[in-house]
Amino acid sequence: MAADRVLLPLAEAQQPLFAGVDLGGTNVKAALVDDRGRLVAFHTEPTRAERGPEDAAARMGRAVHTLAAHAGIATADIARVGLGSPGPLDIPQGTIVRAGNLPGWDGFPLRDRVAAHAGRDVTFANDANAAGYGEFWVGSAKGASSLVLLTLGTGVGGGIIIGDVNVEGAHSHGSECGHILVDPSAAARMCPCGQPGHLEAYTSATSVKAVARERLSAGAGGTLAAAVAAGEELTPLVIAREAERGDALATGVLMDAARWLGIGIVTLMHAVDPEVVVIGGAMTFGREANPVGRAFLERVRQEVRDRAFPVLAERTTIRYASLGGDAGSIGAAGLARLDHRRSRS
Ligand SMILES: [Zn+2]
Repeated sequence: MAADRVLLPLAEAQQPLFAGVDLGGTNVKAALVDDRGRLVAFHTEPTRAERGPEDAAARMGRAVHTLAAHAGIATADIARVGLGSPGPLDIPQGTIVRAGNLPGWDGFPLRDRVAAHAGRDVTFANDANAAGYGEFWVGSAKGASSLVLLTLGTGVGGGIIIGDVNVEGAHSHGSECGHILVDPSAAARMCPCGQPGHLEAYTSATSVKAVARERLSAGAGGTLAAAVAAGEELTPLVIAREAERGDALATGVLMDAARWLGIGIVTLMHAVDPEVVVIGGAMTFGREANPVGRAFLERVRQEVRDRAFPVLAERTTIRYASLGGDAGSIGAAGLARLDHRRSRS
């Protein structure tokens, strides 16, 4: 979506308006949306995490003012702001507990400092939950009653949305779908969180690259091996390209990841019974439009058919996300809208 954002003219926007800020390790993305989740303004800038959290909070606050300026409104005309942040978080406190890619930010009162700089109340959420709400509200699960989102990137993020409820949990660790246990065996792969056998250890872009590297160093041949030997960097994109050319190692690595993803999804289906399961992030291989994307999704569905209750396997929709990198900012705005509506009811 990022390349072809269509902005809604302010005159056609349905009031009230909400801002969503998506804090990433590299970039901050900010979206102004109307009451129906349509994009009115967009702004992005580097996070510059090394300058510390107060500097970033100030720039996130300014980003909200920038959105208002782009749209030609006063910041006070924005009903509320949503902030999606990498976790784990303490949502009631408005703080990051342990920020893997934002060293030095632990315990910083992020929600309240962004609110102070923006001059608006802020709804605080895990970034993957915010992305889940974006896909649920206006993305690939629009119109569904519930959703489970899995984003396959550097790690594996999760979002569970049931009706108007974003599942945050009693300790702000709800929806951590990347850390459900899929492999309790002694040979399980290690998850970056420090526990073996979690879904993330099998289906993140990082783990898929690691598996490919291991199989290449075991001496397997083929076009992926040739590309890497010629100096090409091993990325999910390169693995997918060689899988599309028929390379057995590349295909095997991706289909194994899809199998593990299917196993994780079966557990989530039996726990939540969502109407739609959405797969997003870097590892979507051109989605349904691409043969590798279709094969990956079909392998996930096959695993679900083999392992889930038949009624769930038959009726649960499993598809790719549609909002791309904008899901987090749009979804954060949507979560702010939920809080705004609750405060008025
Ligand atoms: Zn883990």
